[in-house]
Amino acid sequence: MPRLAVIGHPVAHSRSPAMQNAALAALGLGGNWAYEAIDVAPEGFEDRVRAMAAEGFAGANVTVPHKEAALALADAPSEVAREIGAANTLAFADEQIHAHNTDADGFLAALPASPRGRRALVLGAGGAARAVVWALEREGAVVEVWNRTAGRAERLCAELGGASVAGRDHGGAGAPRGAPAAMPHQPAYELIVNTTAAGLKSEDPFTALPLDRDGFASEQIVIDLVYGERPSALLAAAEASGATVVDGIEVLVQQGALSLRIWTGREAPLEVMRVAART
Ligand code: NAP
Repeated sequence: MPRLAVIGHPVAHSRSPAMQNAALAALGLGGNWAYEAIDVAPEGFEDRVRAMAAEGFAGANVTVPHKEAALALADAPSEVAREIGAANTLAFADEQIHAHNTDADGFLAALPASPRGRRALVLGAGGAARAVVWALEREGAVVEVWNRTAGRAERLCAELGGASVAGRDHGGAGAPRGAPAAMPHQPAYELIVNTTAAGLKSEDPFTALPLDRDGFASEQIVIDLVYGERPSALLAAAEASGATVVDGIEVLVQQGALSLRIWTGREAPLEVMRVAART
């Protein structure tokens, strides 16, 4: 019986087991395949992964904080995973560990329209932001990146493209030389993507991020990768302004669908996965 898993730390909150087991059942693979959650601290990650093939695992999703380590231990990393610098999907085959990144294409699949030529603001500079910036750059969006720790945004842009910007009180005229350019007015962006953990733990995202609750516009597409509260405070405000919104569950479903295809070779039942992930 091929086993699958999501490996993270912590991982108990993950919607992936419910979503992937529902998908396996809908594909008629439920009696055969099974997907579980494995909580492993960073110091145990490599040994745990290296033992998995012998334990009957066909593959695994990898989540915070292991995505960079997953890439580093792979025998056969995909070009996309190497360029992004992180892997969220492992497949065990031919006595090798294959590493993929489906976060980038999953994010693109969740968008309601092509980002080509659109001005996009990405908030955050962690692992999720790297996949989003890589995907938007590849698709020809005009990308700007803001992060609480500005230096991290600058390093991300130097590596993957895009321009780092400073919000509100930073940058602009009078800012020190080499400081990020000041972020323009919020409605200037056609796409706004939150990849920061701001908004988790009941924190007000509008105090943590350079966005105004009333600053969204109806022509915008606003995506919040964080999916603790539903809808998130950020998406609730954007939706109230008439913007088109995409939540983190939809992005999770799309990246999970691509992972499932890598492991089983089958097209994923998206609607079944959506329902299971949202239950
Ligand atoms: P990460 O690598 O740890 O990066 C965290 C980012 O959030 C950094 O940019 C950090 O800024 C910022 N941040 C954290 N707390 C903040 C706060 N209070 N105010 C402002 N910025 C804050 O994590 P990650 O892997 O990028 O994941 C980020 C979030 O995206 C997580 O909540 C994760 O669950 C979610 N995610 C969702 C999906 C999906 O499929 N829906 C996929 C991937 C990730 P500093 O650099 O200043 O610390």
